[in-house]
Formats: sequence, C-alpha cells, structure tokens
Amino acid sequence: MERNESFPAVSFWHDSAKDFQETRNRLETDIHADVAIVGAGYTGLWTAYYLKKNNPALNIVIVEAETAGFGASGRNGGWCSAYLSGIHQWLDDPAWREDGVRLQRLMFNTVADVGQVTRAESIDCHFERSGGLEVAVLPQHMDRLQREIQQLRDLGFSEDDYRFLDAVQVRGKLNVDRALGGIHLSHCAAIHPARLALGLATTVERLGVSVFENSPVLSVNQGLLTTPHGTVKAEVVLVATEGYSDSIKGRARRLIPIHSRMVVTEPLDPDQLSEIGFKQRYCFGNLDRLVTYGQLTADNRIAFGCRGSYQFGSKIRTFHPQDPDFDLVCKTLLRFFPGLSGVAFTHAWGGCMGVTRSLRPAVSFDRNSGMGWAGGYFGNGVGAAHLAGQTLADLVAGHETDRVNTPWVNPPGKLQRWEPEPMRWLGIETRSRLMQWADQAEYRGSRLAPVYDKALEVLFP
Ligand SMILES: Cc1cc2nc3c(=O)[nH]c(=O)nc-3n(C[C@H](O)[C@H](O)[C@H](O)COP(=O)(O)OP(=O)(O)OC[C@H]3O[C@@H](n4cnc5c(N)ncnc54)[C@H](O)[C@@H]3O)c2cc1C
Repeated sequence: MERNESFPAVSFWHDSAKDFQETRNRLETDIHADVAIVGAGYTGLWTAYYLKKNNPALNIVIVEAETAGFGASGRNGGWCSAYLSGIHQWLDDPAWREDGVRLQRLMFNTVADVGQVTRAESIDCHFERSGGLEVAVLPQHMDRLQREIQQLRDLGFSEDDYRFLDAVQVRGKLNVDRALGGIHLSHCAAIHPARLALGLATTVERLGVSVFENSPVLSVNQGLLTTPHGTVKAEVVLVATEGYSDSIKGRARRLIPIHSRMVVTEPLDPDQLSEIGFKQRYCFGNLDRLVTYGQLTADNRIAFGCRGSYQFGSKIRTFHPQDPDFDLVCKTLLRFFPGLSGVAFTHAWGGCMGVTRSLRPAVSFDRNSGMGWAGGYFGNGVGAAHLAGQTLADLVAGHETDRVNTPWVNPPGKLQRWEPEPMRWLGIETRSRLMQWADQAEYRGSRLAPVYDKALEVLFP
C-alpha cells in the first residue's frame, strides 16, 4: 500500500477545488447587520442563502474563523443523503412517529433541493443522484438489513425510497467482495463537498451577503459577536460552528467534536474500474456498527472514510497523513475491493463533526433573544444542514412552514450538556470499543458479538 508523502494541508477536496477558492477580507472594524452568522460551513451558508432569497433587503454577515468550507463541510465523504442522525428515536416512539415520518420526507426532498439549487446557481459540485448502496457481507448484516427494510415498510416508505437488493443485484451495481445483499437508498447523491461549500460562499456573496474570513469569534452574546479586530452588532445572531462549538466561550459541553478520517486513491484506470464494477457514482458503505462511507469521485478515484474518535477534553485533532491510523482506513476499503490492492492513496485527512448528548441534531431559535443555532448532525450533515438552513431562515422570518413544525425544531427542555471529564472520555471510548469488538467478533465468526451488543444496550440505553 503506497501513500504519497506530500499531502496537502487540509484535504483532497480542498486540493481539487482550487478554482473555487477566493480571498476574503478579515473583519477589521465594528459593523451592524440584521443577521450575524458564526461559521461559513453548510449550516451558515444555507441559512444565509434562504434568508436572502426570502428577503433580499436583509443585511447579513457571516464571520468565519478560517476560510469558507474549512470545517467538516469541505472535508466530508460527500454523501448528500436523506439520513438524519437520531431519527429512529422519533420513528420508534408512537407519540412522535407521525412527525418523525414527516421529517424524514422533508429530508427526502432536501436531497432533490440541493440538486435543484446547485443547478440553478451554477455551483459545479459534481452532484450526481446515483443513490447510496449499503452492502451486507455477513449473515448478521443480512439479518439487520432485513429488519431495517421491514421497519421502513411498516412506516410507509416504499421501494422508491429504499430498495432491497439480493447478492446478484448488488453485484450488478458494484462488485463488493462477498456481498450477500444490500439496500439501495434512492434519496442520496454523491457530491464534491468543498466545491459545494465554496460555491455556496460565492453564491451568497453574489446575493449580497458579506463573508469575513480569518476572523475567529471570541464571544457570542445577545446581539453582539466579538472578534479580535472588530465586532458585529445584530438583532439576530446564529451560531453554525457544529463540531467546533465547544471551544466558544459559554458553549462548552453542548456539542462535542467527534473525528472521522478519510483517504482517497489515485484515479482508477479502466481495468480497475471494471474490476470493481461501478456503473454509476454510487455512495457506498456496509452494515458495520462503526460507520464506513465511500464514493467514486468525478475523476474516478475512490474517496473513503470510516470510524470515529474522540479526544480527551473535546480537543480538536489535527491530522498528520503519516498517522498509522490511516492504514486501517485503507485496509477497510480494500476489504470492499480486494482487487484494488496495490492502488496508491494520494491524500489522507480528518475532520470533526458535532454531537449532542441526546445524539440528535437540533434547529433552535428564540425570537425574544434573537439567538439561534443548528447542528449535532453526527456525521450526517450534508443533507441535514441544508434542511436546517432552510428551517432557521423560516424561523427568523417568522414563516409558519411545514419545516418549523418538526420534532428537531426547538426540542422541549434545555439542551442537555455532556458529562465533565473524565466521564465523557470514558463513556465515549467504552461505547466505541464495544462497537469495534462486536464488529470484529462478527467477522471472526465468534459468538461474542451479541454479548458486546448486550453490554452496549445496558450501558448506553
Ligand atoms: C471526515 C468527515 C466525513 C463526513 N462525511 C459525511 C458524509 O459523507 N455525509 C454527510 O451527510 N455528512 C458527513 N459528515 C458530516 C458533515 O460534513 C457535517 O455534519 C456538516 O458539514 C456540518 O456543517 P456545519 O456548517 O454545521 O459545520 P462545519 O462545516 O464544521 O462549519 C463550521 C465552521 O465554523 C467555523 N468556526 C469554528 N469556530 C469558529 C469561531 N470561533 N468563529 C468563527 N467561525 C468558527 C469553522 O472554521 C467552520 O468553517 C462528515 C464529517 C467529517 C468530518
């Protein structure tokens, strides 16, 4: 397995979106705005986009610590999917089921909307609605998959939303080693994440939004953002910093950063492509407990990521491409496509995503204080941040849409904080180890997997 020594600073996606990068000013003075947004990732950018589309006269300012798309939005796996983390908690609860189903249908629409807006705004982010493939390679995976399909049918979702595939049908789409079956997610598109983030930044600027970069917000207060060289006074202040939120004064332990790692191969040649049998740019993964996600890029590379990790004290991790952890990511990809052994990996990077204590995302806005935030997508934020942005824009404008009456909007009660350290680290580490051991036990054919699952159920109900 060969890995190039000269990795770029941020990610492959940033490296291949240089034509989209623009230089923007730092905030150097004290200014006023109607709406001030912290963070130029998808959440901040989509919110600004829909606010401006609703009301072109609004004066909107986005303040970004680094550069637009620097965070998870520029580094992710590029699955623009309808999956909303934690939705099962609503779907499984009879009291919330109907609203959960409605929210899920809004997520279906969101994938189509991202395609429609990027086309309308000429954002060349390689959007291709090829769908997602979750592939079962073990009998235990098949059991989980069949249960999942049955639950989805019971909730009223159809073959057009989620389609069961047998082994032959999976291989007809993608030649995953030892595939026994799979599920095709039709509400899913492959995108180039950094081109979407950077393209959105240019689009909102064209609509009249001011975007300041290299301007870290030091404190967020009602009506006021403070950066090292200037302030923004605004009636409405929205925080869109997801995995980075813990480091902002007064916001500790609400959204903690979980990291994920990715690698990308060199462009595959026609023989390699026919060996793995990609018919379209499917997003693909398997049914391990520790998530795996991949896509074929527009220039025929495989971008692939897996696993999450947490740093003690919610520290944000800087990744070094030579980090041995990346070998595991490469090896996991080769388990899908052993025929690719010998392929060169050109880039390796990581990023962080925000997770709430309830493991559910939220969109929150308080009209009295004018303060709001959205995030906690837990690794599934490409589609979700779009719906969150649309919804925040509705809330700020006071529009009574279908979106604002969904279970993730202003959830009842205060946002629960994570435990202080070391309990937080111990809990997260134990959970992720148990999941890892359960996956490994299944691959070994050991009978221990149900024991680890039981421990997970008891310790983390
Ligand atoms: C490796 C990886 C793979 C992923 N794969 C997928 C996937 O395939 N599909 C999917 O749906 N989701 C995926 N995700 C999750 C998804 O990328 C995120 O949920 C989503 O991008 C979050 O967008 P955001 O705008 O809320 O946050 P971010 O994109 O993280 O943006 C937050 C911004 O706030 C800025 N900021 C931070 N602190 C400050 C401050 N003090 N002042 C000003 N600005 C600040 C940051 O620099 C950053 O630009 C992945 C995430 C990672 C890390």
